[in-house]
Amino acid sequence: MIIHYHIKEQSFIARIAAFNLRKDHAAIVIHRTIYLWGISKADFQAQPRYVNHEFQHLYQYYQIGTLRFLYEYLIESMHKGYSNNKFEIEARNAETTTQLADFVLLTK
Ligand SMILES: [Zn+2]
Repeated sequence: MIIHYHIKEQSFIARIAAFNLRKDHAAIVIHRTIYLWGISKADFQAQPRYVNHEFQHLYQYYQIGTLRFLYEYLIESMHKGYSNNKFEIEARNAETTTQLADFVLLTK
């Protein structure tokens, strides 16, 4: 398994996520792109826990497919909110692991 991904800075969709979460920055994964707002690519990459969290979301997309992920994520969020969303719980639990580091590669 190899997952190739992209990073996009100053993303409008991440800005909306930050607004909804009442934070000054956010990262949001859609398909194989990590969209950032309020944080540079370099600053994001310098925070392993943050990177591991978003890598887990990339893996979740890989596991169940983009459309199903987006659908299930929405349903989870509506029923349980952000913090208790099963995808967020799994991503938080992955923050201190590096198990995906060898399989998730940044596309230049
Ligand atoms: Zn997350």
